Amino acid sequence: MKTNLYGAKCALRLPQLMTRLGVPRESIPMRDGQSVRCPWHREHRNGDLNPSFNVYRNGTRAKCFTCDFNIDGPEFVQRWLSLNKRDAFKKFTDIAGAVPTSGSATISLPALQKPQELSMPRLWPFTEENMKQLSAVRRISEAAIAWACSQQVLFFASVCGQPSWILTDSERKIAEARRLNGEYYPSLPPLSQRKAHTVYGSSKAWPLGTSLLRRYPQIRKVMLVEGGPDYLAAFHFLHHFGVRDVVPVAMLGRGAGKSGGIDPGALCLLAGKRVRIYPHADADGGGIRSAMAWHAQLRVHGCDVDYFTFHGLLRADGAPAKDLNDMTSLHQNTHFNFSNLLP
Ligand SMILES: [Zn+2]
Repeated sequence: MKTNLYGAKCALRLPQLMTRLGVPRESIPMRDGQSVRCPWHREHRNGDLNPSFNVYRNGTRAKCFTCDFNIDGPEFVQRWLSLNKRDAFKKFTDIAGAVPTSGSATISLPALQKPQELSMPRLWPFTEENMKQLSAVRRISEAAIAWACSQQVLFFASVCGQPSWILTDSERKIAEARRLNGEYYPSLPPLSQRKAHTVYGSSKAWPLGTSLLRRYPQIRKVMLVEGGPDYLAAFHFLHHFGVRDVVPVAMLGRGAGKSGGIDPGALCLLAGKRVRIYPHADADGGGIRSAMAWHAQLRVHGCDVDYFTFHGLLRADGAPAKDLNDMTSLHQNTHFNFSNLLP
């Protein structure tokens, strides 16, 4: 059994696998030991862009010094596509063209974390104290946080032993947690230190909050943002301007654009809506690339789509504003007409 998987790993080395998965070319090493920019550099502390990722053992294993992981092909698939171990293994062997006999997956892959640390935690309502802390750390009004809680998309949970805010919706296809104090989750092999913890089995193709369109089918306008903090920021602005005819939704990861895009069920709910996308202004243009992929899918479903650009806007500390969360504390000299922010 083990030779089957070993054979598959040799037949499909990481550089080929990464190419097949659509990993950006600058993150694919050509040979063992060559360091390139990590495919997960966006999750690096301080946005470290230095080459830190390489492959070894004839391209069958990979490590990143900054993320502090050490993974093989199936684990790469699991991480990149946010799949569970079983689906990632199947995907890997599908790509490798090898069909393992049943049972081999559990024998030859390293054991994952304790299930209780990965599965959906118990969800709690926010206390006033939680609300104050999240508001201060994320610069989101307490009223907007209370509103998101009342819509059943924002909860308190203890995740990996850490007090956390967690986003999910009634579809329960995805749940993503972050620590209330804004710090990283400690590493939990094979997971490295990470700013966000995605609950096991989540599908990043589901735009979080889309299930609200089932509850409010009459609402025509949608804000499509990237990531949890921007999702809270959307609530912040909608509440601030007293706008109630817009539903915010969030794609929680760019990888979604590469692995088949937006969930078909979500596209049915989004069909025909007026959608404004808020792509992150990343140095590598990845935010725009994902937005364009989502745009193409939405257009096929009859959506009227446009983009918001953060170009020329400054945060309170003088750095360029790169996402919607940055917009909640703009520089005092930035003159921005906020009536242009919402769709
Ligand atoms: Zn890394």
